[in-house]
Amino acid sequence: MPTSPNARHEALRRLFDVLTCPVCHDRLEPADQALRCPRRHTFDIARHGYAGLLTGKQRPAGGDTASMVQARTAFLRTGYFAPLTHTLAGLAAELCPPDGTVLDAGVGTGYHLAAVLDTLPDAAGLGLDTSPHALRRAARIHPRATAAGWDIRRPLPVRSRSVDLVLNVFAPRNSPEFHRVLRPGGALLVVTPAPRHLGELQRHLGLLSVDPAKEERLRRTLSARFQRAHTEAVEYVMPLGAQDIEALSSMGPTAHHLDADVLRRRIALLSTPFETAASFVVSVYWPR
Ligand SMILES: [Zn+2]
Repeated sequence: MPTSPNARHEALRRLFDVLTCPVCHDRLEPADQALRCPRRHTFDIARHGYAGLLTGKQRPAGGDTASMVQARTAFLRTGYFAPLTHTLAGLAAELCPPDGTVLDAGVGTGYHLAAVLDTLPDAAGLGLDTSPHALRRAARIHPRATAAGWDIRRPLPVRSRSVDLVLNVFAPRNSPEFHRVLRPGGALLVVTPAPRHLGELQRHLGLLSVDPAKEERLRRTLSARFQRAHTEAVEYVMPLGAQDIEALSSMGPTAHHLDADVLRRRIALLSTPFETAASFVVSVYWPR
């Protein structure tokens, strides 16, 4: 997607209209490799290009590690999740004005945000995530995307009614805050794994499975502030090679629970290509 020379500058400028100081909620302005509010609360812009808004104690434990992020980047590069990305981008194009503002809450490496921005020629995107390893990639993933270190379970450093589309892909939800930051007429686009997602692989490798009640819980959590407008199931079979399986099983929460050598031995016992289901639920919610 061609981006005009001024597009990045313009995207950054617009994001300063959206970001707020996490301490006092006043506006942030750029100030030599940092962002600063009028009360002089100051947050560094990391060498890798993202704004570090979380301070020491707020940083949660257990975020994505360097090796998880590396595995995810390798797996996404294979294109196995392309049908999901295609669905997300298509819905984003219907839901968000072409020059709108997109907030990706739990941006990860920015893979999905980049695809969404590609369908919206003048939109600007802000990605929030806790993992510095993921943010390094997200900050550079697209000329019109920026990224900031933040835990999306906390009050968001984002101005009320400033966002046209909130993306929430395999990430925690913050229903009151998503509702607060959306403009009237905005939308929330949520992706969750369905119970069948990676089922065959989970059974063979002893990975964590998706809780079948997850989707129902999500709907209940959101229902006070959002109305579900549309739900789409995206399901297909992935014929995976050994390297794909290793990347896939090292990129998610499972990576915290299973020893890498054990995993490698179990993968070696599989006959490849190993067919497993990719299964997602993509839902559109309107703020009430
Ligand atoms: Zn401040």
